[in-house]
Amino acid sequence: MRLLILGGTGDARALAARLGEDGRHDIVVSLAGAVARPEVYGARTRIGGFGGVEGLSAYLAENAVGAVIDATHPFAQAMTANAVAACARMQVPLLRLDRPQWRPGAGDDWREVADLTQAVAALPEGARPFLAIGRKDIGVFALRRDLDCLMRMIDPPAPDQPLPPGRLVLGRPPANADAECVAFRDHGVTHVVTKNSGGPWGYAKIEAARRLGLPVIVASRPPQVAVETVADTQAVLDWIARLDR
Ligand code: NAP
Repeated sequence: MRLLILGGTGDARALAARLGEDGRHDIVVSLAGAVARPEVYGARTRIGGFGGVEGLSAYLAENAVGAVIDATHPFAQAMTANAVAACARMQVPLLRLDRPQWRPGAGDDWREVADLTQAVAALPEGARPFLAIGRKDIGVFALRRDLDCLMRMIDPPAPDQPLPPGRLVLGRPPANADAECVAFRDHGVTHVVTKNSGGPWGYAKIEAARRLGLPVIVASRPPQVAVETVADTQAVLDWIARLDR
């Protein structure tokens, strides 16, 4: 059976690796093309949008896709909605892999907000926030000319992208909190702003904020369309095994 994994996340990489080891299915990972140098997936990869529900429906038929696993990021709403619509139309089984949200632990000072617009409003005058929210959403902070931001992105923003005042660092998140602590101290960070992405990738900033006693402004996940959902790779493998039977 050919399986299409909608990727762009550590979850998708982990799933592709597990299915690759297993070797019983033909795996295709789909990426949006959001970053110039995507991480290696160890599976056949296609890059770029499908062209909405129509395009994805056509892709599923033309490529005889037997099942789709949506392992896109919890904030990637459009792709999930398109997958739900296209899979229903083409009667292709669909499973959503949605990692558990982060929860505040002992010593965390969290301010949970509905979205990034509210995160902007939650920052006090003259704050020095750390923003690791991606290129696509940085513009909502640009009107706050009083801020001095430390921004981290994988690829540089477009030349015409409005940015808030501050310093831009290019790169992926470090795996450990030590490196985050050094960067936060160096810039004099006063607040950490994050999406509630969940998972181990990017958690170092939350741990660093805890160690340094910094408040964390956490944007809640957007609502998702209703779809069968599991929380980990093993549950996806179990679902595939049931389809195989
Ligand atoms: P989005 O708003 O849900 O999707 C926008 C459009 O990008 C979709 O309509 C689709 O274009 C295309 N697309 C998205 N994911 C795709 C995939 N895996 N394969 C092929 N096309 C895809 O997504 P987004 O928030 O821009 O995120 C883009 C990618 O970055 C996603 O794959 C996501 O997993 C990853 N990512 C997102 C975030 C985040 O905070 N949003 C964080 C980390 C990683 P068509 O309609 O033309 O098919």
